[in-house]
Amino acid sequence: MYDALVVGAGPAGLAIAAALAEAGLRVQGLAPADPAAPWQNTFGIWADELEPLGLAHLLRHRWSDCSAYADGRELPLGRDYGLLDNRRLQAHLLEQCRRGGVVWHRGEAVDVRHTSDHSVVLTKAGDELTARLVVDASGHRAALLRRPPAHNLAFQAAYGIVGVLEPMPVRPGQMVLMDWRVDHLTPAEQAEPPSFLYAMDLGDGVTFVEETSLALCPPMSLDVLRERLRRRLAHRGVEVRAVHHVEHVLFPMNLPLPDLDQPLLGYGAAASLVHPATGYQVNQALRLATPVARAVAQALGRPDASPRAAAQAGWNALWPAERLRKRYIYLFGLEATLRFSQRELQSFFSAFFQLPRRQWAGYLSDTHALSELLEAMLTLFSRAPNHVRIGLLRGLAREDRRLLLKALTAAHA
Ligand SMILES: Cc1cc2nc3c(=O)[nH]c(=O)nc-3n(C[C@H](O)[C@H](O)[C@H](O)COP(=O)(O)OP(=O)(O)OC[C@H]3O[C@@H](n4cnc5c(N)ncnc54)[C@H](O)[C@@H]3O)c2cc1C
Repeated sequence: MYDALVVGAGPAGLAIAAALAEAGLRVQGLAPADPAAPWQNTFGIWADELEPLGLAHLLRHRWSDCSAYADGRELPLGRDYGLLDNRRLQAHLLEQCRRGGVVWHRGEAVDVRHTSDHSVVLTKAGDELTARLVVDASGHRAALLRRPPAHNLAFQAAYGIVGVLEPMPVRPGQMVLMDWRVDHLTPAEQAEPPSFLYAMDLGDGVTFVEETSLALCPPMSLDVLRERLRRRLAHRGVEVRAVHHVEHVLFPMNLPLPDLDQPLLGYGAAASLVHPATGYQVNQALRLATPVARAVAQALGRPDASPRAAAQAGWNALWPAERLRKRYIYLFGLEATLRFSQRELQSFFSAFFQLPRRQWAGYLSDTHALSELLEAMLTLFSRAPNHVRIGLLRGLAREDRRLLLKALTAAHA
């Protein structure tokens, strides 16, 4: 019998399948399409998130000239950013899977049932696949995981184009993480929910520009984002000469955690690994794959291990008490930013990116210990202008304080 069945072949599915195989387990995978079928999303990541994993060579583009624009000024970030080379990352993970003997099946999981020593996944075509543990990595619309109903889901939404823009809206070699300038909008439009420009020079005269709504409930429509992008570019005299690719982004930022006592494990967006403050997830999926796989392998090392015991070991490694607490703090931050006006957001991000780099970088990458995260937030609070502080305090006066309470009391997975 296989030790593990991984459902899904996105970045998270491939990363966990490769890590489980590397941990010595017999692994099979299930996905509706060929696991080598190209991923369509453009995946951004900080270079220092890949370096410790020895994967920095899998960047397709890397920028050192990175900045943000907020509160009327440019803020140099001093941190290298990159776009992943999807094809090479996918090939790298698939090669690890191949070396570890992972067998891939085509199909769509529709149901799972559990016995005392294995689980059986049923596919849409009526096939059954058996393993000692099932790992659901089928994205934010997870096929098999149980989770509480979602209320007030906030979505990141974006409309982007890769193409030839003249003049280029960024400096040669520049990456702009967030451009909150709003001089292309009327005062009435500036009072509407805000969006920012994410932009980068891809070389050879090609630019990637994406109008992004960080988080909003209900989501900002792609039509609004497309129109804002058009207006922003036109205001700066930028003409779109050719479009090579259009990207539509829409995914939830605060998907509730799956039930952490269920007898199957989740991974990636399915397991709510999307960072509630940024929307990034691939960094975590790559970073956590090995520790989670090792915990699962150790649990399955016991011959009488049940799917529940193996899943529990995985959930504990994925969502230990400290990471759970940090998640509630990030959710508190998300709630505050959801309510910020344009002016408050500008000042918030201006203060944020003027924190010591170690503080804002750890916040965005989720590499801080809980104490460091709190320290970063307190430093931000002490340095932010009063209207931002009041905005943050508003959260304490509202229901959001339940998130801080959870941050203090979350015990373990
Ligand atoms: C356009 C876009 C841009 C993004 N940009 C970034 C970014 O720059 N950086 C970043 O870190 N994050 C980004 N994200 C967020 C997040 O990282 C991605 O959504 C990422 O693809 C999630 O990875 P995943 O492997 O968990 O899920 P997915 O990539 O969604 O993969 C899910 C896999 O499961 C399979 N599947 C689905 N249902 C079933 C089923 N029933 N049975 C079997 N298989 C199934 C799918 O076919 C797929 O193979 C972006 C998201 C979007 C939508």
